Amino acid sequence: MGKNALPTLHDLYSVQSTNSLLNQDRQHVWHPYSAIQADTPIYPVKSAQGAQITLMDGRTLIDGMSSWWSAIHGYNHPVLNQAIERQLQDMAHVMFGGLTHQPAIELASQLVHITPEPLQTVFFADSGSVSVEVAIKMAIQYWYAKNQPQKNKMLTIRYGYHGDTFGAMSVSDPENGMHSLFSNTLAKQFFADAPNCGFHQACSADDIAPLEKQLKEHHSQIAALILEPIVQGAGGMRFYSPDYLRQVRKLCTEYNVLLILDEIATGFGRTGKLFACEHAKIDPDILCLGKALTGGYMTLAATLTTTEVADAIRLGEPGLFMHGPTFMANPLACATALASLKLLLDSPWQETVNAIEQILQAGLSPCQQFAQVKEVRVLGAIGVIELHQPVDMKTLQPKFVEAGVWVRPFNRLIYLMPPFIISTEELNRLIAAVVRVVEEM
Ligand SMILES: *Cc1c(COP(=O)(O)O)cnc(C)c1O
Repeated sequence: MGKNALPTLHDLYSVQSTNSLLNQDRQHVWHPYSAIQADTPIYPVKSAQGAQITLMDGRTLIDGMSSWWSAIHGYNHPVLNQAIERQLQDMAHVMFGGLTHQPAIELASQLVHITPEPLQTVFFADSGSVSVEVAIKMAIQYWYAKNQPQKNKMLTIRYGYHGDTFGAMSVSDPENGMHSLFSNTLAKQFFADAPNCGFHQACSADDIAPLEKQLKEHHSQIAALILEPIVQGAGGMRFYSPDYLRQVRKLCTEYNVLLILDEIATGFGRTGKLFACEHAKIDPDILCLGKALTGGYMTLAATLTTTEVADAIRLGEPGLFMHGPTFMANPLACATALASLKLLLDSPWQETVNAIEQILQAGLSPCQQFAQVKEVRVLGAIGVIELHQPVDMKTLQPKFVEAGVWVRPFNRLIYLMPPFIISTEELNRLIAAVVRVVEEM
């Protein structure tokens, strides 16, 4: 519906039906971190194509979120659509207990091939949070199998985010507000202060000391250290030094603690490397993948581990890994993930991400001068504007939509992580709109 044209009867009818849909949504549908009958705005989407989302009122928004790190190839991609359609001819799903299929086998082989060499086995899970639960259970079962059942706690650093299920919540930042309400129900884990060394800085003794102290004092109880490599996502969008990660790897080996890397957000090119751990050239014992795994098409995650861990679990008691989701290795999701991986690896993704990094850096840096802005930071295809005060979503969200962009801030953070296929022109429009809105805040 153009702004200046008179609405037709059809337009009026669709406005009415959109309003009725929205009313039903408000009454019956939960959204992430939201309430029923919430007074925060919500926008019905009609379709999405490439780097653009079209609302039911006809407005088109440039996507700055990749639907939370996932839609790296943009929306409605013909190759991914075709992968689903092809797989659908054979089967949408079969149970994975006692049965297997080509999409899962090929995807597992491919993941083993592109991830650090020691990771040789793949457990498919249905969401990132579940892949973290699986990682935690693997670590605990590993030490149980090794006759060290007292090693059943997790160690992590502050500002982390690992998901919304109970195990994942127990290792997410205990104070940033997302999960503190559940703190009495959660497993008690060990927390160390996060490093303050930025991505380009060396890690000082002060940065690593808190973690080393926890390891020194509690390693006999600790099964694994879990952290997000290089980029801490939803817990604060903080970037830290590869040097820190190298020291973390050394300490884990020294203190006999497994290292779980959660690359659910950072995996598949987002930070400029295929996996963020490559910045530090280190190998984890367990790796969690999710989000961009299917190019944002459907929910699928994976937990990879080493032969050492897999063998210990097989040879110990009870000789089985105790987890098995109903929709494990869904064939449609696996086929889409395979197509998404091929699209990514056949593309010049590294140059693309580097180019996005340059444009974000140049475009967002003027925000540094605004009084309301604390810091601007960019790494790979991630741009973060950290404010001094938390944003008011009720007023800010409509401003971004009116400016023609889809950006979803949280707390003190306005951040961009566009699809890799975004055009330079779209990216510049996205950045210009964000800078304008931030300036006017
Ligand atoms: C999003 C996220 C998760 C949780 O994934 P879901 O698919 O939302 O369950 C876990 N860890 C990290 C680092 C994430 O960014």
